[in-house]
Amino acid sequence: MLIPGEERLKRGRAAVIECADAECDICYKACGFYAIGKGEDGLPYSNPQKCVGCGGCAAVCPKRAIKLLKDRGDGTYEVTLPWEAELPEIDDTVLITPPGAKEPVRARVLQARPKNPRVFSALVTTAVPKYGEALCSEPEPLPKDFLVVVDMQNDFVSGSLGTKEAESIVPAAVKKIEGFKGGVFATLDTHFEDYLDTREGRLLPVPHCISGTRGHELEPLIREALEKKSYTPVEKLTFGSVNLPNLVQNAANGAPDSVEFIGLCTDICVVSNALIMKARFPEASISVDASCCAGVTPELHEAALKVMQSCQITVKR
Ligand code: SF4
Ligand code: SF4
Repeated sequence: MLIPGEERLKRGRAAVIECADAECDICYKACGFYAIGKGEDGLPYSNPQKCVGCGGCAAVCPKRAIKLLKDRGDGTYEVTLPWEAELPEIDDTVLITPPGAKEPVRARVLQARPKNPRVFSALVTTAVPKYGEALCSEPEPLPKDFLVVVDMQNDFVSGSLGTKEAESIVPAAVKKIEGFKGGVFATLDTHFEDYLDTREGRLLPVPHCISGTRGHELEPLIREALEKKSYTPVEKLTFGSVNLPNLVQNAANGAPDSVEFIGLCTDICVVSNALIMKARFPEASISVDASCCAGVTPELHEAALKVMQSCQITVKR
């Protein structure tokens, strides 16, 4: 169980998961903020840097294993928890066991959200006196180094735009993802049924990465490696994502120290995103690992690496 640090709890509600069911993935799928990852033991944990405290996971969990915690700044914690019994009234006193506490404590009811047909539990929000120094783990340091995995989707690896070079970099990319210490993003090229009517479709009339198809999904080995990292997927409708630097900035709470790129294709989406990142964070170290990238052709791969090098992006070989 990961309990967020004090500084994080002062910023707002965060989910705390006390789950023993490695087979279930309901909360993982329900979180629209990609804040729930799975640890090596297969159990879910909430990433306090991504969690916005919406409570969606707590309401859908069939084991009522998720609570939300916040420091109210007045010597009390706010604890939100799934509720099975009849809903209490505001200001009622109830007995609850807050996350990490050994014993039940008396709590004052602040809010009661009834159950609706789409969720498993009602939620009740309470205030309890702070219950011990031991509650909070050390604050999680925010990542300053990032890995961006560009468009490692089925269509670019083995599908309509796949190449043998793209297939050959998968093991190296998996190793890179698994060994990376820092924040991880994965971009997803995303098109729709009208692809051939778009400007890109007229110039490249090969439907690919159509939302909802297998071609749009991440290559399975890459996805498996990413899921162990609690990565953030970023759907993008064209080569470069202008939103990606914002997401990196939010995750680092400022400019990052470094952003490394790997993925497909070196000469289109990797170079586009690396240059956007370089323009946004000129003092950060921006790099690309050539051994984990592949281009439309080997020649275009090399040409793109040269362009990036000219723009002071470090090319790792
Ligand atoms: S509280 Fe909301 S944002 Fe946080 S983990 Fe649960 S569903 Fe995701
Ligand atoms: S929904 Fe509940 S039981 Fe299922 S994985 Fe999440 S915390 Fe565990």
